Amino acid sequence: IELKAEDLRTVCELGQGNGGTVSKVVHVPTGKTMAKKLVLIDAKPAVRKQILRELQIMHDCRSEHIISFFGAFVADPHICICMEYSDKGSLDQIYKRIGAIDIDVVAQIALAVLEGLTYLYDAHRIIHRDIKPSNILFNSAGQIKLCDFGVSGELINSIADTFVGTSTYMSPERIQGAQYTVKSDVWSLGITLIELALGRFPFSDDDSELEEDSSEEEDDPDADIAHYIANGLSSASSVDTERSFASRDSRDSEESFGEGTLSPRRAPIALPPPTISISTASTVSHPDTDSTTTPGTSRGAPKLSAPNASSAAKKNRRKSRGVSLQGGGMTMSILELLQHIVNEPAPTLPAGKYGADAQGFVAKCLEKRPEDRPSPKELLGDPWMRSAREEGYDLVAWAETIP
Ligand code: ADP
Ligand code: MG
Repeated sequence: IELKAEDLRTVCELGQGNGGTVSKVVHVPTGKTMAKKLVLIDAKPAVRKQILRELQIMHDCRSEHIISFFGAFVADPHICICMEYSDKGSLDQIYKRIGAIDIDVVAQIALAVLEGLTYLYDAHRIIHRDIKPSNILFNSAGQIKLCDFGVSGELINSIADTFVGTSTYMSPERIQGAQYTVKSDVWSLGITLIELALGRFPFSDDDSELEEDSSEEEDDPDADIAHYIANGLSSASSVDTERSFASRDSRDSEESFGEGTLSPRRAPIALPPPTISISTASTVSHPDTDSTTTPGTSRGAPKLSAPNASSAAKKNRRKSRGVSLQGGGMTMSILELLQHIVNEPAPTLPAGKYGADAQGFVAKCLEKRPEDRPSPKELLGDPWMRSAREEGYDLVAWAETIP
């Protein structure tokens, strides 16, 4: 059946991200409940048609770990994508509701994501490109499914020009501008799994090196930034992919801006991949412009206040501290976070609390060199995944514990 805008009755909003708004709708002629995603597209009609054509590939993506696709149409200035509705929402919503997720459930999530990624790549040569908790959906039938994968190159390009979104689930090689491969998705999975197991984004305030700077500011208005970073940065922090940041050795010098400014019109998902070379200890501010254009999210919108003159001045005075991360007053600009991902050891599942299998698996996902990192298919043979498969888990019962 052909989907039309007038046949869809909106029930409620499910959430907002960098790419658009998602609503729960009923397709009146069939009575089918769906999730409708509106993506604002800055593209000519010919390009929109091309996007629609490319999206049709999703009709062929059939797997128990991939959200089904019902159809897409142009709803100027948006493209409207209708997909299977997931009644328990996304994993970020779930852990924010119930707290840290039991490691045995996390194992089942890892297994489902790897199976979904392997299916997409083996059957369709599709790389997901945006693995993060909000793109992993869960339903009361106990199913774990991926959504928002990069099927349409044209869509990726058009969103990149319209919206700004970067996210710090990005792998070191991607930050450095290397080719995107399935292994970049594996890195993002590693970050995601730690986040779910800890109930918070892993690049956070237990990082002693970054914590050193915490005394510098208490009154920074940029609250809730870890969340903001974790869920994709908006215009305030996206990185101009065309510039590379010159190596600077200026940890102790005052800010010098202008070089390597951040552009609000480039997203790192753009193809070809970004080329940013980042040195340790470069001092770059996050731009104070555009921070109010951050799209709100249902998961707690980042509350970036419009920077007033004095806070902007203060930012320019202090050293390389752009935004503050949630909790503990630790501060880190997006560039520092990207540098951190590139230069520092990868995060780990804290020892003691988690089994060696889980820790070992996550460590493999977070191998910093893509050559050392296994592919999704290889990871399906990991001991932690094998026991997850053998032991199973009653995810239907678990779903009942989620309000
Ligand atoms: P993001 O993934 O960056 O959060 P999106 O615009 O892709 O932004 O989605 C916004 C929110 O809508 C997601 O965080 C998720 O909670 C919710 N959502 C997306 N797709 C579905 C779906 N098919 N079923 C239920 N909820 C969904
Ligand atoms: Mg999404």
